Amino acid sequence: MLAARPALWQQRLAEAVSSVSELLELLGLDAHAVGASALAARDFPLRVPRGFVARMRSGEPRDPLLLQVLAVAAETASPAGYVADPLAEADSSPVPGVLHKFDHRVLMVVTGACAVHCRYCFRRHFPYAEHQRTGAGWRAALDYIRADRSITEVILSGGDPLSVVDDKLSTLAFALAEIAHLRRLRLHTRLPIVLPERVDDRLLAWLTGTRLRPVVVVHVNHAREIDAPVRAAIERLYEQQVPVLNQSVLLAGVNDHADRLVALSEALFEAGILPYYLHLLDPVAGAAHFAVPVARARALVAAAAARLPGYLLPRLVREVPGAPAKVAIGP
Ligand SMILES: *Cc1c(COP(=O)(O)O)cnc(C)c1O
Ligand code: SF4
Repeated sequence: MLAARPALWQQRLAEAVSSVSELLELLGLDAHAVGASALAARDFPLRVPRGFVARMRSGEPRDPLLLQVLAVAAETASPAGYVADPLAEADSSPVPGVLHKFDHRVLMVVTGACAVHCRYCFRRHFPYAEHQRTGAGWRAALDYIRADRSITEVILSGGDPLSVVDDKLSTLAFALAEIAHLRRLRLHTRLPIVLPERVDDRLLAWLTGTRLRPVVVVHVNHAREIDAPVRAAIERLYEQQVPVLNQSVLLAGVNDHADRLVALSEALFEAGILPYYLHLLDPVAGAAHFAVPVARARALVAAAAARLPGYLLPRLVREVPGAPAKVAIGP
């Protein structure tokens, strides 16, 4: 058999910007003025698809899209309380590649790879090598899920599950569909936003091709992340009756204004996406400069609530290690 030709998204992924100097050159920015740091990029490499860079404003050092991906010197500061595994996830993994923290749903870490490296990511220090499983390596996860009849939903996560090729994801999805007590297959992915070419026929074929009800949770933090190709990608999911929800992280300098939160919800809805969660930043080492204090977070959400219909207001939540669900801290 001939090897399958790489899909367009794979080519675009391979062409992603991976150097601080190239990113700054593309945007006409000076490394000193933006606090860029090669040291921070050595710890957690810079990575951003070119289509996402195209949505940034040239010459704007505080661009809210740029701030999410640029490696900066502030990351190398390590204030007390900011740690490598803020959610103590190492304690909730019954078998490699599975996180089972909440009843009725498990999260499967299908890969450590992402199309974009978000500087505030709580998984930036995650020991992926210990969890990374494909093919035969998924067997332990499948066995675990098969053995626990209380599980009704599997969340494919990572890293970003959609950075894995469709052949493998298709095999996994059909194997999961054979587990009778499962009802839903959820994806937690940023690919439809940062690399909308990812939503292609091959993806839709397996996502909608099993008996499991699919649901996709994307990750957008600022209205300007949604452009015409993103809207087209979401439209394709919408046409196939795949609900699309969004989770954001409340990030200083990116979306910590009521105006920006309102604009984000409006833009999401116009693209066919419903707001789901607004997460407080997890205290991960290297991300302290993105923190928004809880009192301010509550005030921002209260201000946004006064201007949005209830269904466009995301739930303000935080992760508390050991808690049975995400903890609401809403206004
Ligand atoms: C966030 C999360 C989930 C999903 O929680 P929902 O409230 O259902 O969205 C499941 N498992 C783990 C480990 C999680 O971190
Ligand atoms: S896409 Fe998600 S998992 Fe990947 S770096 Fe960004 S926040 Fe982290």
